[in-house]
Amino acid sequence: MTSRLYRDTGIVLRTYKLGESDKIVIFLTENYGKVRAVAKGIRKTRSKFGGRLEPLSHVAVQFHRGRDLDIVSQVESVDSHGTVFGNLDAMTQASSLLEAVDQLVPDREPVPQMFKMLLGARQTLLTRPSPLVVPAFLWKLLVAEGVRPQLDSCVACGEGSGEDINFVAFDIQQGGVVCRSCRAGFAISPAALKLLRDVLGGRLGEMLDQAHQPGPQTLNDPVLNEVAQLATRAFEHHIERRLRSVSLFEQH
Ligand SMILES: [Zn+2]
Repeated sequence: MTSRLYRDTGIVLRTYKLGESDKIVIFLTENYGKVRAVAKGIRKTRSKFGGRLEPLSHVAVQFHRGRDLDIVSQVESVDSHGTVFGNLDAMTQASSLLEAVDQLVPDREPVPQMFKMLLGARQTLLTRPSPLVVPAFLWKLLVAEGVRPQLDSCVACGEGSGEDINFVAFDIQQGGVVCRSCRAGFAISPAALKLLRDVLGGRLGEMLDQAHQPGPQTLNDPVLNEVAQLATRAFEHHIERRLRSVSLFEQH
């Protein structure tokens, strides 16, 4: 019967209550992709799982294959994320990361690259928290999905003079910046465009260090805010298109 057991490491994306004392836990695992499994008795005071299956927990899990849902049979913490708890800002950011991954990843499809990205973002949140973490992660997810935004020439007419000032907006539909004469979509400032280029151009670490410094770059920073809002819109656009294409596919 050992073949019904399997082990993996994973990050808890979400949990919800099941019956009187159980929970369904959704993991993004390293090798098996997104896995839903029942943690039996987890809501009892003396549960063997303790507090190890909260969202954002990084755990080593043993699963038991069930007929419908798998069962969590053992859990060990890989590392703790105590500092995030009690920090409302960091918890909100963590929820956004987890929700984005949950929306994007289908069940049981191995996505080791995505796991690595989420683990990295989680680590960044724990060690260098900044309001840039979530927007940067969303943009990187989009790139990983194959929809890298076009930032160096107008998506409508192709003009790319190199003068940032010529790009005045970002067109979500077409996935990139547009020049003054093709203006469509959301206005983008030269500073926000520069930040977006830095984030996607391999300078994210540097940007995170800057954003982590106490100083002008806070959640209210208008440039950061622009990049964050654009990230959310671009991500939602991508998810909707995907959901639509999946439902079309399923109709046939
Ligand atoms: Zn143009």
